[in-house]
Amino acid sequence: MLVLGIESTAHTFSCAILEKSGKKGKILSDVRKIYRPPEGEGIHPREASRHHAENSPDVLSECLKKAAIKVTDLDIISYAAGPGLGPCLRIGAVVARSLGSYYKIPIYPVNHAIGHIEIGRMLTRAKDPLVLLVSGGHTMILAFLFGKWRVFGETLDITLGQLLDQFGRCAGFASPCGGKIEDLASRSNNYITLPYVVKGNDVSFSGLLSAAKNIMSKNLEDVCFSLQETGFAMIGEATERALSFTRKKELLLVGGVAANKRLSEILESVCKRQNCKFFVCPKEYAGDCGSQISWVGLLESAHISPTPLGNTFVRQSWRLDSVEIPYISS
Ligand code: AMP
Ligand code: MG
Repeated sequence: MLVLGIESTAHTFSCAILEKSGKKGKILSDVRKIYRPPEGEGIHPREASRHHAENSPDVLSECLKKAAIKVTDLDIISYAAGPGLGPCLRIGAVVARSLGSYYKIPIYPVNHAIGHIEIGRMLTRAKDPLVLLVSGGHTMILAFLFGKWRVFGETLDITLGQLLDQFGRCAGFASPCGGKIEDLASRSNNYITLPYVVKGNDVSFSGLLSAAKNIMSKNLEDVCFSLQETGFAMIGEATERALSFTRKKELLLVGGVAANKRLSEILESVCKRQNCKFFVCPKEYAGDCGSQISWVGLLESAHISPTPLGNTFVRQSWRLDSVEIPYISS
């Protein structure tokens, strides 16, 4: 069974072809073009959607070529229907709808955040993990229970990715800034005290962001180090409590921020204390990509009917804990 998955929720336009035989998935191709705003600026939704519209034909052709298949070989098409930026989401939906209606291929709209989790499970083979999803759009601690991914802690304001990107933009870095901050942080060992805010099992990063911006004039390597140590320790504390509470024996780290080595180090020590196995989504598939959307489309197609063309909408706000999951038994 072959699927084309289309991702266009924010900065990335990506198409990927996956093949499923039995319960196993194989990535045949995953092609991406990323919108890069000018240095110091964030994503402009109209400019990002223009980028996606302009690049979609090339990304699609290259993805089919790399997988060595034709559109007519596809069994289904899935697209990221939300959550995300409206203008960007609509480009992916239009590509899916155009191909689906012209070639009569069934369509599956997919929740982007579920895509981050499922591609992580597929590639690491984690079975029943507590999941830490940290990306540009999400900071959530999740466990699967009674047919849905349930939230055991989340951010009360900005996400971990936004904390890094907003700080980095203020320092004049090109967005996304996580990689650059990680690099600068690795050159320091000098911790400057910053606000550490965990409320119940939720985290709040906005005070930390303001405080870090206020000391920007100090040594930037020290500030990046302190920002990472504080933000990662906060999410590490909440994750450790959720592990202890749910008694899960696996922890799976997914989302773009999963590329950060220091975050993995902190979570590895959490797992050691909690006697649990640590899995991290491979860097290449941790950020937004078509493969995550393809795989969820394939999983869903074995259990539910495709969505009629007239209902292939987008949803800018679509919480992942509202999505019924038919393909995992609790
Ligand atoms: P996503 O929304 O899943 O594509 O993830 C994008 C987010 O991942 C952005 O906020 C990036 O700054 C962040 N990111 C990418 N690489 C790293 C890294 N090495 N360390 C921390 N954050 C990162
Ligand atoms: Mg994402």
